Amino acid sequence: MNKKSNPLLIFYILTIYIVLQFAWWTYMLSNLNDEVYAKKTELVFSSQKTILEKNDLIDELEKKLIKKKLMIIGEGSVFILLLLAGIYKTRKSFFKELKLAEQQKNFLLSITHELKSPVASVKLYLQTLLKRDLEKQKIEQILINSIKETERLNNLIDNLLVASKIESELYPIFLEKTLIRLFIEKTVINLKTIYQDKYEIVININPELSLDIDKQAFSSIILNLLENAIKYSPINTTISIESHQENGRSILRIIDQGIGIPDHEKKLIFNRFYRIGSEETRSAKGTGLGLFIVKHLIEKQKGEIAIYDNTPKGSIFEIIF
Ligand code: ADP
Repeated sequence: MNKKSNPLLIFYILTIYIVLQFAWWTYMLSNLNDEVYAKKTELVFSSQKTILEKNDLIDELEKKLIKKKLMIIGEGSVFILLLLAGIYKTRKSFFKELKLAEQQKNFLLSITHELKSPVASVKLYLQTLLKRDLEKQKIEQILINSIKETERLNNLIDNLLVASKIESELYPIFLEKTLIRLFIEKTVINLKTIYQDKYEIVININPELSLDIDKQAFSSIILNLLENAIKYSPINTTISIESHQENGRSILRIIDQGIGIPDHEKKLIFNRFYRIGSEETRSAKGTGLGLFIVKHLIEKQKGEIAIYDNTPKGSIFEIIF
């Protein structure tokens, strides 16, 4: 018997137990009725008591019967409620486990693919460069594509390392006062160059804004959010990073004009391995680790993250420090 089927087995056992318990109570109640009926009949035909005495005794017997019935029904209801709560919890944990197992399986499939595909692409690019005599422009394009692929691989490995450090609570945080605009400009310079023909990345942050951040964590947050904005937006759209102050708090926003996120998914997408849609229908590559990392790293720096809809379309990821 595997581990996954244990909760289901408990669920079945509890259900069978409830059914048997019900049958037992019904049997007990009907037995009680029969017993009282027999006593009443005995009383009615008894010649040693007067009619008044018989009536009193029958009343007493009926009161006792009602009392006993109420006791059995009361105790039974509490018992059933407890059992139903147990069944509900077991069932819930079973389906949760099942979902996690499914997500883990998808994660393993996608991670294998995500690790292999950039390596295969770079190999192909290098082989092309080696074999053919190409024009300068073509060579440049091949090199840009290779950098893109290695960047993707690098970010993926970073995410895997960060996620495992978060899991084992080993991620060190060193807060340093940092000029945010300058820092973000440096962080996104590579992405900006790689995607310059496809997306307009606008940084609209007060140059004086300075915050206490962990530089490594903050760059991981910005890169993950920006890569998502790119991944889930059509080309020739704008992605902006903005800042403003509200009630003494600094707010950073990453705004895209992409496919948007349905309301019921907004909380779920921060879960580990969670990806919207199914593996069959999803076209964008990914592992479901990015936003899990983003949320944890923001919280480690005492910040918060929220998602809003952009108008007319797209998403806004808001970080509050
Ligand atoms: P993934 O590797 O799948 O991108 P993430 O944890 O970064 O993993 O994101 C989880 C899911 O949230 C994604 O699969 C995607 O469906 C959704 N998502 C994240 N960012 C955006 C965005 N900017 N626009 C639309 N959907 C997004």
